[in-house]
Amino acid sequence: MKRALFPGSFDPLTLGHYDIIKRGVTLFDEIIVAIGVNADKKYMFSLEERKKFIEEAFANEPKVKVVVYKGLTVNFCQEIGIEFILRGLRNPADFEFEKAIAHTNRDLAPIETVFLLTSADTSYIASSIVRDVIRNDGDYTKLVPDNVRVK
Ligand code: ADP
Repeated sequence: MKRALFPGSFDPLTLGHYDIIKRGVTLFDEIIVAIGVNADKKYMFSLEERKKFIEEAFANEPKVKVVVYKGLTVNFCQEIGIEFILRGLRNPADFEFEKAIAHTNRDLAPIETVFLLTSADTSYIASSIVRDVIRNDGDYTKLVPDNVRVK
């Protein structure tokens, strides 16, 4: 069975993430969406909210699982026996950043990173922009799946 880990903060899940996961499902038997926990990072949404947003958005997609992990992504992949990491690429800056991480990861473990180019209509979306729009009372609803709402 081919399984891929899609790691990130998902603070919150955006239509950009949604698009990559939907397309990942057509390539892999299972997509494990992995919420990385970093004790030094301040999040807008709690871990429970971030997890629930993803679970609800993919409630009808049995090939999508959501997990939480700490520490190095490749270590977690090895712990649960996953051979692929899935990442989305929006622009050249993403590429440079992701290239360094993917090379490092391959030095650390025999895990391949698979990149999907974002869809043109979601390529400008980033969780950080969504958070800025929310903080400033803007209409963020066009940038996230329908179930992702601020309480
Ligand atoms: P982090 O900031 O912890 O890397 P993110 O939640 O921002 O986590 O991103 C997780 C993954 O989703 C990354 O591979 C990133 O490139 C991808 N991603 C983020 N936004 C988009 C988007 N608009 N379109 C496609 N992929 C995206």
